[in-house]
Amino acid sequence: MKTLPMFLNGAWVNASEGGTREILNPANNELLAVVTDGSEVDAEAAIAHARRAFDSGPWPKMRAQERATYLFKLADLIDGLADCLATLETRNNGKPLREAKFDVADAAACFRYYAGLITKPLGQTYEVSDPTIQAMVVREPIGVCGQIIPWNYPLLMAAWKLAPGLAAGNCCILKPAETTPLTAIELFKLIEEAGFPPGAAQLLLGPGPTVGHTLAAHDHVDKIAFTGGTVTGRTIMAAATGNIKKVTLELGGKSPIIVFADADFDVALEYAMFAIFAGQGEVCSAGSRLILDQKIADRFLARLAEASSKIIVGDGLDPKTEMGPLITRSHMERVLHYIDVGRNEGARPICGGQRLTDGALSKGNFVAPTIFVDTKPEMKIVREEIFGPVQVVQLFDTEEEALHLANDTIYGLAGGVFTGDQGKGLRVLRGLRAGITWLNTYHPTFNEAPWGGYKQSGIGRELGTFGLDAYLETKQININLVPQRLNWFSGV
Ligand code: NAD
Repeated sequence: MKTLPMFLNGAWVNASEGGTREILNPANNELLAVVTDGSEVDAEAAIAHARRAFDSGPWPKMRAQERATYLFKLADLIDGLADCLATLETRNNGKPLREAKFDVADAAACFRYYAGLITKPLGQTYEVSDPTIQAMVVREPIGVCGQIIPWNYPLLMAAWKLAPGLAAGNCCILKPAETTPLTAIELFKLIEEAGFPPGAAQLLLGPGPTVGHTLAAHDHVDKIAFTGGTVTGRTIMAAATGNIKKVTLELGGKSPIIVFADADFDVALEYAMFAIFAGQGEVCSAGSRLILDQKIADRFLARLAEASSKIIVGDGLDPKTEMGPLITRSHMERVLHYIDVGRNEGARPICGGQRLTDGALSKGNFVAPTIFVDTKPEMKIVREEIFGPVQVVQLFDTEEEALHLANDTIYGLAGGVFTGDQGKGLRVLRGLRAGITWLNTYHPTFNEAPWGGYKQSGIGRELGTFGLDAYLETKQININLVPQRLNWFSGV
């Protein structure tokens, strides 16, 4: 099998030290591809190329309108390959094809959104107290940006990073997760076809602790943008202090979905499932804590357990599949360990609670949709991010209690509320200490609106105008409209 290379300085190259990595299909653990696996040496090379491209190359100096044409072209190329990209994403990540198709369309839309946004007004002018001065602000690219992404949305996370970074005129180095580089490789073939100048966008493959760390720590990298786990985020933030890098972090979550008794029952029921079982629960904003009104608990939980145990779990390429496999065998073991811990702590699964091994499932990393009741706030399964198809149920009697339970977490990424009372819904959303909130829905994400977390779920925002802002410096310019002697020094 031919080793797939990475894309540095406009050329496809293998790792300088010859490292390779096998990429597996999580539905059956069969070999999908072999990719090159870089080291610190390759990271250093990518940074040097990006530095040169930023300091003396055409990309940052290009007019915004011209940069936008590259991004629009890339979006069209993505659309043209949408079916292939979605199939590849499902084979590499495991998610059902219907989800992968959505991700691909959203990735193309993200490039289009930032292509449009960068040509809109960015600066400001100020009337200041001195009438001889005209003050203004212009926005400029930050420089060389390291962009490190996880495995759960491989193509979409690449778009969320590259689209605003490139639109703003930065030179970007994307490092995908070790396990899911395949759609990023395809994306960079399209970047090559769209004709981006060498060094504007590079694809660096390799391990996080070496290659990723070099990006985070290097003095010639001006910004690090990271999406991944909170523990890794802390390491990256510490590594980035050497040259006071700009840092944005999109980290983990343990997000609440609060269902009041006055909610539309069937709507809330389906969203409670969608909140946790979309993407196999490997979603940073997953509604992994169902905070449920005691008044409807018996009926709601009976229906929830019944419907969740009917979810069709299988290979994401099968059109019937509603939930796919977990990313790797070791991640599956980690999720199963949490299920054991939950049982040992005294919680009780009302559905699932085991690996699925019937027939062809035995070759893959499949875990049954699992819902725990009889939980206590101090349990590990209630406090820690499991990142799999496991939801814990917490019951409440009053609105205050619901909000207290919802906010009782170190995380603050997302949260949803289901109620027929709009006033109560808005009141509770305003009380949630979280960056992304939903009323009577869960999970919709828009390129136009900012994405990111409170508390230990991160720093900064991606998407929307906030996401572009995170890739721009702010320069104050003061113009003397009436140049004349200052008369400050007598000897002039
Ligand atoms: P991870 O933190 O293990 O890895 C993410 C990326 O960081 C990978 O590319 C990895 O190679 C790299 N990395 C690992 N160690 C590094 C180091 N020391 N220095 C630099 N880079 C390093 O996360 P994961 O397991 O791939 O993804 C799951 C996590 O991502 C979950 O916690 C999830 O909540 C989070 N996530 C958050 C968002 C969000 O928008 N907030 C979105 C998706 C995923």
